[in-house]
Amino acid sequence: MPVPLKIALDLLADHRIEIKKDAHLTSLSPCSVKRLDSDNSRRLVRMNNLQGRAKAKAIRFLNEQDLLRIERAFDRMENGNFGYCIKCDAKIPLTQLEQDPAKSLCPNCDGSQNED
Ligand SMILES: [Zn+2]
Repeated sequence: MPVPLKIALDLLADHRIEIKKDAHLTSLSPCSVKRLDSDNSRRLVRMNNLQGRAKAKAIRFLNEQDLLRIERAFDRMENGNFGYCIKCDAKIPLTQLEQDPAKSLCPNCDGSQNED
């Protein structure tokens, strides 16, 4: 196993906590509007709220995807497959796992071979 289990677990657990914190923040309702001067400002406020909600939804979606990736990484750890590409079984470089412990593809399979 390329990454000591303890370190990988810590990284993943930290990342999961961060995501859950973000998810909590974005799920808070948009701030209430206290001052409405005209139809125009009212319309602007409404647009801002809509955009804010769409953005929060997008962030939540991304966080859910991330959480799923992390849960899968925990599963791979339990199965003893953590750190190996799910496509070709090659070892995923430690440097890449340090950047993204939930990474499931080797540089060859995810097309990032040149990044190193
Ligand atoms: Zn691969």
